[in-house]
Amino acid sequence: MPNIYKILRFGTLIKSKRIKLLGIWGLHILGKRYIGIFFDPVLACNFRCKMCYFSDEGWRKEHKGVLSFDDIELIGKALFHRALKFQIGCGAEPTLHKDLIKIIALGKQYKIPYISLTTNGNLLTKEQLLEAAEAGLNEITVSVHGLTEKTYESLMTNGKFDVFRQLLENISAVRKQYPAFKLRINYTINNDNLDELSNLWDVIGYDIDVLQLRPIQKIGESEYADFDRKAIYDKYDTILLPLIEECQRRNIICIAPKKENILLLETDEETDDRIEKATYCYVSPASCWKDDFDYRKDTFDSYAKSHHTGKRLFRNIFQKNNSRKVDVTRKMNYDIN
Ligand code: SF4
Repeated sequence: MPNIYKILRFGTLIKSKRIKLLGIWGLHILGKRYIGIFFDPVLACNFRCKMCYFSDEGWRKEHKGVLSFDDIELIGKALFHRALKFQIGCGAEPTLHKDLIKIIALGKQYKIPYISLTTNGNLLTKEQLLEAAEAGLNEITVSVHGLTEKTYESLMTNGKFDVFRQLLENISAVRKQYPAFKLRINYTINNDNLDELSNLWDVIGYDIDVLQLRPIQKIGESEYADFDRKAIYDKYDTILLPLIEECQRRNIICIAPKKENILLLETDEETDDRIEKATYCYVSPASCWKDDFDYRKDTFDSYAKSHHTGKRLFRNIFQKNNSRKVDVTRKMNYDIN
């Protein structure tokens, strides 16, 4: 199993976009894996987290649906052989899909090197966790928005803090049986849960592989409206930095922004998205990869051939910065420590 974080860290060390684009082109023409499939098998969530668009009724009404396993098999046949990473659960809750374990096994069947599940975890039993690890799941990422019962249950509406703690115990037990099975914690930081981060190790313990610290950003309409990151910036040295340093001491990967990146505001600044465009593949009941890609008829390779993807990727290497204006919250730059 490749260490996906080593690959990502290596990617951040290569500063030249051209070299990265050359690598992508090379992998493309050699028929190798280079895309990341970001997969929401169901557009629904059992939670209504205040910072998430699932707290917005209008958004929920417009975004729903479930992919049948028959369709997922077709998608697998069309795309999975070119995937380097299979991320199950991106903007919704994948454990609501009844065939979750079969989906993981399908990724394994196509030999995708890294299969990861992002979830609030409240519906996962110990038996399902064991089945998931057995089926080939490499990593579970648990989303957390609070480290006390009060904050967790207030910010993660419908969530139960006791269940979250039990989940951590269950994952720990599964990791004893499957030592390579990784646990990642994603903590979204806002003004109401910032101070609790100091208790992170008491609540979560050190039995984790990856910690992501994500300062709040506006990603859509949501019940929560305080997007001010000034306090996160001000307390960086006393709250975030000790966590980053403790991770380094304990060999835990910590994904966190540099202090100076926290206050960079939403702007219409320009961004170069050539790498993301070439490697990012989002699949949900509402869309599959490209607007004109039909997984019932096309495969990755037939589509790439008819759309001259190889030539386009080659031209990309030599083109000047193909910037576009961004009019939503700017993406935050994270370091992999
Ligand atoms: S668990 Fe995740 S997808 Fe569900 S409401 Fe919370 S943040 Fe949104």
